[in-house]
Amino acid sequence: MEPIIAGNWKMHSDPSESRKLVQELLEAVGDVKERIVILIPPFTSLPCVGELIRNTRFKMGGQNMHWERQGAFTGETSGLFLKAVGCEYVILGHSERRHVMGECDDVINKKIRTALEIGLIPIFCVGETDGERASGETRRVIERQIKEGLKGIESEVHKMILAYEPVWAIGTGKTATPEQAVEVHEFIRSMLKKPSTILYGGSVKPDNIDVLMKEKEIEGVLVGGASLKAESFTRIVRFKR
Ligand code: PEP
Repeated sequence: MEPIIAGNWKMHSDPSESRKLVQELLEAVGDVKERIVILIPPFTSLPCVGELIRNTRFKMGGQNMHWERQGAFTGETSGLFLKAVGCEYVILGHSERRHVMGECDDVINKKIRTALEIGLIPIFCVGETDGERASGETRRVIERQIKEGLKGIESEVHKMILAYEPVWAIGTGKTATPEQAVEVHEFIRSMLKKPSTILYGGSVKPDNIDVLMKEKEIEGVLVGGASLKAESFTRIVRFKR
């Protein structure tokens, strides 16, 4: 499969900034055939980004969704609404949702189930904190996140994308070495019932993308900060093996 390059814009880019960024990216990498490029803007930018990328090679995802399809959940968004504006993917279990917004494995599992039921492809993120790695708990934490997140839907893992995102590497400028990433990717893969695509995320930048993508275990990347500028994201999309 073609490598996946996903850009998580987090809570950045209002609709007019988003429009400008998409136009620059379409010009720079709109024609790249050997990559799957997924743009993941904030909710309020999804309609305009969806319009701009219609009939292009770019794909779009949401940053989160509720596990119910609709209802009295003020401030939440339904996966069906994401689909209605053109999303094919949704990030679930991102470390900022787990650690800042307090989402637990059980909630993430419910969201993954709903995403699959309504036909969205979950980008299911797992990763250990600095302290957990330092105390030798990386495998235990990843194992729990995978087991709980996939509870009851283990046989559907081929319909999802997984992302190994060590929390200590997200937004910190500290990237996992290719060896560290490969070790955890192999561990994750050994736990899965069926083959699934596994991305790496955590301070991916133009100056480390090539070395990461040389590893065949790393089937793509989830990029935060460096996806906000057309120049840096373009270089990442055009990585060299
Ligand atoms: C992310 O948001 O998933 C991420 C990996 O962020 P950054 O690239 O900024 O570390």
